[in-house]
Amino acid sequence: MRKLVVTTVSVVLLFSAGFAIHVVTTIHPYYLIVSEISEGRAEVSLLVEPGINPHTFSPKVSQIKVIAKADIIIANGLGLEPYLRPYSKKTLYVGEKIPKFFLNVENHEAIEGVNPHVWLDPLFVKYYIVPTIVEALNQLDPENRDYYLENAKRLIKKLDAIIRRAYALLTPFAGTYVIVTHPSFYYFFREYSIRVLSVEEGHGVRPSIAHLEELIKLTKSGRVLGLFHEPQMDDRGIKTIAKETKRTYTTIDPLGVEAKSIEELFDEVLDAIEGIIHE
Ligand SMILES: [Zn+2]
Repeated sequence: MRKLVVTTVSVVLLFSAGFAIHVVTTIHPYYLIVSEISEGRAEVSLLVEPGINPHTFSPKVSQIKVIAKADIIIANGLGLEPYLRPYSKKTLYVGEKIPKFFLNVENHEAIEGVNPHVWLDPLFVKYYIVPTIVEALNQLDPENRDYYLENAKRLIKKLDAIIRRAYALLTPFAGTYVIVTHPSFYYFFREYSIRVLSVEEGHGVRPSIAHLEELIKLTKSGRVLGLFHEPQMDDRGIKTIAKETKRTYTTIDPLGVEAKSIEELFDEVLDAIEGIIHE
């Protein structure tokens, strides 16, 4: 599966002759969403390959060629893709379509005032991200409009099921905390009044001893629902907390590298949380 995703760019290029449009996506979740809506009708490429941290990514020469050739680039925005600045005219920053009202929240881990991980809130995906993407595809390729709309509707139904599952699972834990290696799942947990605390103090900043001690103290107090590690991040901090508090930690992937659809990304996260609750 991992290998399959890595080779997507080159494989897709070989068979691109029949596609009306070429869409470049930056991170895997957007690749999954665009692929599901445009299935078989648009050529879709992925820039940030599995295992790469999107906060430190910069495109290779071969990828710059793919970017240059794209009809549209679907990106997150909110500071996540500074390397796309030269292509801003054809870049759609979907995260920037979400009203700032929902983003300008008290969050000391934010980059330039805004936490960029909006794709991890299924409600943002349903109400802003999917509608923004489907509208852009319809404008670029009006011939396939009905097809894209039908696929988008089906995707929204699946997201509704995810949202119902998440509510049922997490509502009883309002007021608790989760500790994650970096604040990726901030919006996801905020929906249920669960506060996300980050091991990293800002992106890529190793935690201080004082910060780790604070997190250990909180975990020992019994108010922490779970400890989570992300595959793209350094796990030394979360390991220390787990060891000191005799808790286990679980991996959740904000990029859903192993997931074959955006629903699967969320289902994997919910499975992991369920595992921790029933421990
Ligand atoms: Zn991040």
